[in-house]
Amino acid sequence: MKYKNNRLTIDGINVDFLANKFSTPIYCYSFKKLKENILNFKKNFKKINPLICFAVKSNSNIKILKEISKFNFGADVVSGGELMMALKAGIKPKKIVFSGVGKTSSEIEFAIDKDILLINAESKSEILEIERIARSKKRTVSIGIRLNPNTDAKTINQISTGKKENKFGVDEKTFLRLVDYIKNSRNLNLKCLSVHIGSQILDHKPYEKMLKVVSKTIQKSQYKFEYIDLGGGMGIDYMHNNKKLNLKKYSQSIKKILNKNYSKIIFEPGRSIIGNTAILITKILYIKEGFKKDFIILDAGMNDLIRPALYNAKHKILASKNKKEISKKTYEFVGPICESTDKFSTIKKFQKLKEKDFVVICDVGAYGTSLSSNYNVRPKAIELMIKSSKIQIINKRQKLSELM
Ligand SMILES: *Cc1c(COP(=O)(O)O)cnc(C)c1O
Repeated sequence: MKYKNNRLTIDGINVDFLANKFSTPIYCYSFKKLKENILNFKKNFKKINPLICFAVKSNSNIKILKEISKFNFGADVVSGGELMMALKAGIKPKKIVFSGVGKTSSEIEFAIDKDILLINAESKSEILEIERIARSKKRTVSIGIRLNPNTDAKTINQISTGKKENKFGVDEKTFLRLVDYIKNSRNLNLKCLSVHIGSQILDHKPYEKMLKVVSKTIQKSQYKFEYIDLGGGMGIDYMHNNKKLNLKKYSQSIKKILNKNYSKIIFEPGRSIIGNTAILITKILYIKEGFKKDFIILDAGMNDLIRPALYNAKHKILASKNKKEISKKTYEFVGPICESTDKFSTIKKFQKLKEKDFVVICDVGAYGTSLSSNYNVRPKAIELMIKSSKIQIINKRQKLSELM
C-alpha cells in the first residue's frame, strides 16, 4: 500500500476508486503480497524442507485456497466443512491434516474416506473413536497425537493454546501412554507428534521452549515419528513498527532437534501467510462529536471484522486521502452494530476526517472474513483480489434476499 499524490493505493489501484465502484465495505486482497509471503516463508525454512499446510480457518475463501495450493501448500483443517473446502480447492488429500478437539464421528469418517495425510487427535476418547471407525471400515488410519507442551506463547491470552490449562492436546504422561496403546493397535498407525502453542507469536523464545519439550518427549517415547507437526502461530507486524518473528532463528532451532530425529516437519501457518495481504475499505457514515473524542461511525462493523471486539486486537487505520491537518480531538473508530464492543480503534492525533470519506483497516486477511457473520442481519462484504493489476471479485457481496 502506498500513497500516490496523497491518494491511498493498493498494488497501484486507488482505494477511493474501488470504494466508489464496488460500494463499501470491501475486503481487498493483494495477490502480490500473498505470493511474497509464501515465497518468504519457504525461503526461511528451506533447509528443513517442510510440508506447509495452510491453516484454512484463518481464511477459507476458495479462490484464495486455490492460489495457495498452486505453491504446493497443503491444508490444516479443523472441521468437515474446511476439509471439503480444501479438497474442492484442489488440495491433495495426502497434504491435508485435520486438527481440533471435537471432531464428530461423521467428520472422522469423512476424513478416513478421503484418505488424508493425518488426523491429529487431541484426546484418548478421540483416539478410541478413530480406532472404532477405522476397524468398522477395515482400515488402518494414520494419526498424530497433539502434545500440550505447557509452554506460554506470550501472546494475547485468548489465542494461547499450549498451556496446561488450555483445552488443547494431551500432557506428556498421557501422550506416552497413548503412544504405547497405539503401537499395539491394528487400525491405527501413529505417524506424528503435533503441537501448536498459540497465535500472533513474535518472540522465538516460546518456540525454543516448545521445541525442548517436543524433543524430550520424543526421546522418552522411544518412538520413531515420521512427522513432527509444529503448528503455526507466527505473528505479523500489525502495528507497522517492524516487530517481527525471526523465522531464521526458529528454523535453526528446529534443525537442531531434527539432527536427532530424522522426521519430516509440518507447519500450519495461517496468519503469517494471509494476514497482511488484505485491507478492509469502509466509509465514514457519520461523525458524532463527543466531549473529548469524536466517534467516527463506519459502515463496517464487528460482523465484518470481529478481532478487535473478540481479542482486543489492534489494526492500523489509514485514511484514503492523505491530509496534513490533524484533528484536535481523539477519534474513536466504531461500527454501526448495537454493541459497545463494536469498536476498532481509538487514535489520538489522526488526520482530520469528514463524513463520506473512506478509511482502510489494515492487515485483515487472517481471521477477518472467516470470522465474519450476519449479526444484525447484515450481509457479508464483497471480497476483491488485485492480481497482475486486474481486479477480481473473489466473493460477491451477499444479498439481503439470501438472508431472508
Ligand atoms: C489456528 C491454528 C493454526 C494457525 O495459526 P496461525 O496463528 O494463524 O498461524 C495452526 N494449527 C492449529 C492446530 C490451529 O488451531
